[in-house]
This record gives sequence, C-alpha cells and structure tokens, in this order.
Amino acid sequence: MKKTDIFHDMFGVDTALAAKAASIEDKCRRAFERIDAVAALNQARVIRAMQRFRVSDSHFNISTGYGYDDRGREVLEQVYAEVFHAEDALVRHQITCGTHALALCLYGVLRPGDELLSITGKPYDTLEEIIGIRGKPGCGSLKDYGVSYRQIELLDDGSVNYDAIKDAIHANTKMVFLQRSRGYAWRDPLTIRDIEQAAYFVKQIRSDIIIMVDNCYGEFTEEREPTSAGADIMAGSLIKNPGGGLALSGGYVAGRKDLVEQAAYRMTVPGLGREVGATLGQNRALFQGFFMAPHTVAQSLKGSVFAAAFLEELGYETCPAYDQERSDIIQAVRLKSPEAVIAFCRGIQKASPVDSFVTPEPWDMPGYDCPVIMAAGAFVQGSSIELSADAPIRPPYTAYLQGGLVYEHVKLGVLCAIQELINAGLLEIA
Ligand SMILES: *Cc1c(COP(=O)(O)O)cnc(C)c1O
Repeated sequence: MKKTDIFHDMFGVDTALAAKAASIEDKCRRAFERIDAVAALNQARVIRAMQRFRVSDSHFNISTGYGYDDRGREVLEQVYAEVFHAEDALVRHQITCGTHALALCLYGVLRPGDELLSITGKPYDTLEEIIGIRGKPGCGSLKDYGVSYRQIELLDDGSVNYDAIKDAIHANTKMVFLQRSRGYAWRDPLTIRDIEQAAYFVKQIRSDIIIMVDNCYGEFTEEREPTSAGADIMAGSLIKNPGGGLALSGGYVAGRKDLVEQAAYRMTVPGLGREVGATLGQNRALFQGFFMAPHTVAQSLKGSVFAAAFLEELGYETCPAYDQERSDIIQAVRLKSPEAVIAFCRGIQKASPVDSFVTPEPWDMPGYDCPVIMAAGAFVQGSSIELSADAPIRPPYTAYLQGGLVYEHVKLGVLCAIQELINAGLLEIA
C-alpha cells in the first residue's frame, strides 16, 4: 500500500491531502531536529539520574497503609529533584492534579498578611478560586486566610512588565508568581531565559522574595527547567508532560528544600509531611513515565509543529508559528468560525484510539462564559499529554491542540481534522 493510501483507505483522508503532508514534513525538518536535540539531552539526564540513585526493581514494590519508608517513592523524588536541578521534590499520585500541586505551594508557603504577586497576568482559571479572585468567600481561599493578591499584566508583546514590578513590590510581598505556559491564551509562553531574567530582576529588588513558577505543560520542552533558572519552587501535573503518558494520576512540587517541606506539610499535615503516603503500586508507572517523558514531549512537540506548518499553509493563523521557539506543548490556531472549530475537533476525535466513535459537541462548562468543545480520546481521563483539542466557542474561534504520545497519531489527527474542514465545505484544497 502506498503511504498516502493508508490515510485514504483507512481514514478517508483525500490522497491529495495526505500527499501534501509529506511536503509539510520536509518543511518541518529543521524544527524537528531542534526538538530531537532537546529530547536527547533530557533523556540522557533522566537516565543518568536513575543510574545515580540506583533505581532497581525493588523500587517498584507496593506500599500500603501509612506508606512509611517507601524506598521507591523516596528515590523517585530524588530523581525528579536531580533532573530538575532542584534541592528537593515531592512526587505523589495522591496529589490529584496540577491545580492541587500548585495549591500546595501557595498554601504551604504563604501566611496571613503576606502578598502574592503574579507578574504574568491572570493565573490559570482553576487558581482563581484558590487565590480568591473568584468564588464565594468562606471556602478557604488564600484571601479568606488574609493573604492578599495583586497581578501585573504582561505587555502587549507578551513580555514581563519590569517597570510595573518595581512599583508593585512592597514589604509584605512574599511571593512572585509566574505562569510559564500560554495556558489558554493567545500569547507566547515564557521561555526559561525569560523566567531567569524575571527572577534575577525580582531578586535584585529583594533577595528574600520567593519565585514560584506554574510549570504545567512546560517540562522537557527546553533544556532546562525553571528551578535551574532562579525559581525557588515550581509545580506541575503528572497527567501532563512529566508523567510521560503512563502516570495514572498525580502531581509534583520541586524546588528549595525548606519550601518543598512546607508544601509537604500542606499535602498531609504538619509533622507527618512527606513521611506518609502509600504508593499502592504506582511507583513503576511514575518511574517509567518519567523515563518516557522527554521522548513523549518531543513527539507531542513535533505533532504541534506539523499542525502549525500545515494549517499555516492553508491560511490559518497559528500561535506559535511552526518554526518558533517553544516552551510549552500547546498549539493554538484561529479557525475563523464556530463551524470550523467544531469540525476540527470532530476530526481530532475521529483519529483517537479511544472513544473515536463519539462526536464532541459544545457544552456549557462550569467556569466558562461561553460553550466549550473538547475532543479527547485518552487512556487516562483528562490527560493532556495525550492528543486533545479544545476550544471556547467565541470569536476569534481559537482551537487549542496539545499532546500526543506518538507523532504518527498527531499527524493522523491533524489530517482528519483538516479533512473534516473540507467535508464541511469550510476549506478547499488546491
Ligand atoms: C493544566 C494547567 C494547570 C493545572 O490544571 P489541572 O487540570 O489541575 O492539572 C495549571 N496551570 C496551567 C498553565 C495548566 O496548563
């Protein structure tokens, strides 16, 4: 069977479209090579760390009950710390999601009277109720506990507003917060260099300010992590990049030893901290997922590059552009109409190994001011290191594509999504 016929015969993709994919891939070669180089370095680091801490079969054993002295858990945390160039790390399946991991840092470190200052504008949606920007009083937000909050918007070009930071830092500013990823906004992520500069700038003003980074979606996209670029503490989700697609659930916190300890006291309770937490047989998946992560992230990044290159060629606006530097795994694309967003997501769903038979529909999701459509066919619920696409149904009709455990799947997903646009009469291919 000819290569282009595979897509046609099995998935109904026009032969002309499949043929075009080959020339798109040629165009992506350079970007792919850059991604491979980053993956090679990160992969070597992960393996070296696992060797250094003598990871062995016994670390995959199961602990139950209190989970005291779970050697595998301790070694996993040392491996994370080593790879992330951090003094310490907390890596637990009991941390339910990225939001939870971030909240452990915030609640663990901040005290009544302290101020939290975000210098990357509005934080990720789910942090709003934690901080107390949104949501009802009395649910135990930081605001309820007397922790105040301020934010400085990013400048129009997506860079940090240094002048405003200088003015905003006061005696009670305890922590400066940065979000690395674009999240679901049409902006560039902060690169590690950007984070390093901002951290340096803040420390020049007051060296005792704690720099915290929301590292969700950023892990292994570059050669370094925020904790080797001036961040004191960072957190992320194990069903995103560092779980490598194998972690069934979990989150991590990494950074300065004293701060990680405070987060651990919040994760369980003061006194017990990190000493408890049965791993219930999850160690193997967390080790293996971390081992897979540099490669998996590279697969997903290459998929995004391919998607951007193809969609740009078809006249759509993308963020980032296919050959732009990347510091997260999200690919945004402006599809121009609600029908196009829906068709695009339908195509992604059709290419999924799981739930390919369902048709995604826009729905009113809590916390959003318009209907949202989501395409995902994941082995792990909500996992966004697996290929997924979502979009709020509102102008300018931007869809966000992320993840992909294997590049071939992302490529198929993009082809099916473009085919859906053609089938719906929304796109003509020359
Ligand atoms: C995913 C994400 C989070 C946390 O989300 P969860 O769904 O709770 O894991 C926080 N910040 C950013 C930028 C994210 O992408």
